[in-house]
Amino acid sequence: MKKYLTYLGIFFLLCFCTPILFTSTFPQDTTNNQNQETESKKEAEEIVPSTYDYSEYQTVKLLHKDNNKIEELPLDEYLYGVVSSEMPASFEKEALKAQAVVARTYTLYKMIQNKGKHGEADICDDSTCCQAWISKEDRFARWDEEDQDVYWSKIVNSVNETQGKMITYEGKPINAFFHSNSGGATEAPINVWGGSGYPYLQSVQTSGEEDYSQYESEVSVSKKEFEEIIKKEHSNFEIDFSKEDAIKVTQYTEGNRVKTIQVGNLKLSGVEMRTLFGLRSANFKITIQNNEIHFEVLGYGHGVGMSQTGADSLAKQGKTYEEIIHHFYTGVEIEDI
Ligand SMILES: [Zn+2]
Repeated sequence: MKKYLTYLGIFFLLCFCTPILFTSTFPQDTTNNQNQETESKKEAEEIVPSTYDYSEYQTVKLLHKDNNKIEELPLDEYLYGVVSSEMPASFEKEALKAQAVVARTYTLYKMIQNKGKHGEADICDDSTCCQAWISKEDRFARWDEEDQDVYWSKIVNSVNETQGKMITYEGKPINAFFHSNSGGATEAPINVWGGSGYPYLQSVQTSGEEDYSQYESEVSVSKKEFEEIIKKEHSNFEIDFSKEDAIKVTQYTEGNRVKTIQVGNLKLSGVEMRTLFGLRSANFKITIQNNEIHFEVLGYGHGVGMSQTGADSLAKQGKTYEEIIHHFYTGVEIEDI
């Protein structure tokens, strides 16, 4: 009996000590590089996903706009190409995971809502129409060689670790809009595209977006160019720059963007000004400086839904992909498909 207890004791000791042996760390000063190497090797390893039953959404029929050909891909494999095309792989892992869930949700939403828009195909690879996509070969060609394996694994793992997850509102996949940089506050879709809007797409504030290059930009045009550009769309346009209120913002949106602006004899929307002058967003200040019209712009994109740099900023502050999603989409749930 005593012998039996001794064996049992040794067995327990081994059980507890073995993990300690394997997880013990080396002194920082001598092996910092080694640790970093092990870390990036670990990053370069792809997680092999268990097969997930996506029922009727097993594959995506992707239309390549450049050659008009349809390629059929397993859903998550398609998402590797979307996430690597839509978000920099250098972003935080939790931000990439949020992008993976957003992309999966957007794909399912399009597959359900867009039936017939692209004939036999479910979705196209044009970001201005559906959602950007890039092949692994093309993606690799645009990365530095030393980053390729680590970056690709990071993308693949972000999709695989969120396998089966989608964002829902009242049980249905949401129209998961996203953009590059919110300029500090996201926008309600009604202020961008009109219509009645979606309850889960509200204006929310995000801190830390000012640290990204997408945050601030400027555009200048001469008074003559300014007049010509507007006249192309509105032949009745007239402006007297010497008048104090020649250009005046008349209304702002809840996301701090220009809703309406008086320009000479016209009242235009901020969204139209953005399009006319190729501004990165409708969040702008406009001033007349000598012979020039000057725009100072904050943010990049339409501003609706998840801000990608905002997601990265939140991830840097320690937020998980679920918290990031709940921050940008009001009242939603993250569910298994
Ligand atoms: Zn499309």
